[in-house]
Amino acid sequence: MTTTDTIAAIASAPGAAGVGVLRVSGPAVPAIAEVLLGRAPQPRHAHFAAFRDGDGELIDRGLLLYFPAPASYTGEHVLELQGHGSAVLLDALLRRIGVLGARLARPGEFTERAFLNGKLDLAQAEAVADLIAARSHAGARAALRSMEGVFSRKVDALQDALIALRVHIEAAIDFPEEEIDFLADPLINEQLQRLREQLAELLREAQRGVRLNDGLRVAIIGRPNAGKSSLLNALAGSDRAIVTDIAGTTRDVLREQLSLDGIALELADTAGLRETDDPVEREGVRRAHGELARADVALLVTDAQQAEHDLALLADLPASVERLVLINKIDLEHASARYESRDDSIWVWASAKTGVGLDALREHLKQLAGAGSGEGAFSARRRHVLALEQVALHLDRADHVLRATRAGELAAEELRQGQQALGEITGNYTSDDLLGAIFSSFCIGK
Ligand code: GDP
Ligand code: ZN
Repeated sequence: MTTTDTIAAIASAPGAAGVGVLRVSGPAVPAIAEVLLGRAPQPRHAHFAAFRDGDGELIDRGLLLYFPAPASYTGEHVLELQGHGSAVLLDALLRRIGVLGARLARPGEFTERAFLNGKLDLAQAEAVADLIAARSHAGARAALRSMEGVFSRKVDALQDALIALRVHIEAAIDFPEEEIDFLADPLINEQLQRLREQLAELLREAQRGVRLNDGLRVAIIGRPNAGKSSLLNALAGSDRAIVTDIAGTTRDVLREQLSLDGIALELADTAGLRETDDPVEREGVRRAHGELARADVALLVTDAQQAEHDLALLADLPASVERLVLINKIDLEHASARYESRDDSIWVWASAKTGVGLDALREHLKQLAGAGSGEGAFSARRRHVLALEQVALHLDRADHVLRATRAGELAAEELRQGQQALGEITGNYTSDDLLGAIFSSFCIGK
């Protein structure tokens, strides 16, 4: 433990509640606990205590729990006080603890100390915040798994394999006269290919983890009047988006968070994507493109007549964006609801107006969002995916270098950089700026 000051914060949510919780962590905890209790507290024992101010006046009665270092959340001495859930009482208690030698904690500072004391790694610490913020059951379950280290253990295993390979290659460099032979060793190539496969698998799992965590981002696109707003309303079960038969009504991007059987979705209804001279509408189209750039799924709304032509709207999307095509207004065609998997997209025939066929669409959205992704699914953040993509890039380069030039030093350097990118996930190699950015997004008291 390197920290020397003691921090305190109200850990429960603001507002009136049955119980309010105050947390204190740091070296002054035993002394503070002794003053509040009137004697030395027993570790991990629920004491019923009268919390009094400096004049001996009663502030509140409640439970006092003492967790001596290192067996605590932060790894420091921790004190938890449970009083009545009143903002006024908790404030008074917090002030009292301030007088006794604690300062107010910054957002996420308890978890930051837990990280600095090795109680959890960075990915686990982020999962704590994600668990608290989870918007769906699936998201909460996934965050819990990451908090328990499911993701981190996979990253660590990959890290070990990377280090083993690097040691292997660096051994070859250390014996230059034999380098050619060493690097030609099929074991090195095998190791590297296995590593790339492992990484690709982890990258897929992490991408799914981001969707479970943030919710699937779906951008609804299509020409004006295709039925985008009607679809959004049908899926969200409300009349949020303005539905009219004047083409181009939806000029801004409307966003709707919804949960399909415990899976979080974020739907964005974009303006119709069409060439226009109207500046307001043009702004809408610009935003629609921005929405597509950050989407997991592009949901094209069209109809039987326009489908072939409208497919062009999906043409320039990055390969990572999933494509769903909704052939809408089948009620007008007297066509029946159905769906089909095509090369790079799923097609659903439905009616946003009558609701016929939308269940199939919901089902596909749920699958894309990570439903049924199994017991092992864990949460992840975009920064983790970016780090894994960096690692993949370095492994690709190492592979290329080994094949093309047999330059052991260059390959080893790529592996070293890959190792560093991987270390950013769990916090082995992390700048103070990144740590600051991560922990400051926590709530106070966590
Ligand atoms: P947007 O411009 O793409 O958002 O389209 P809207 O959702 O505003 O719909 C345009 C018009 O098409 C409205 O009059 C809707 O009622 C109508 N519409 C949307 N979906 C359907 C459908 O499945 N069947 C029928 N018959 N009309 C629809
Ligand atoms: Zn609309």
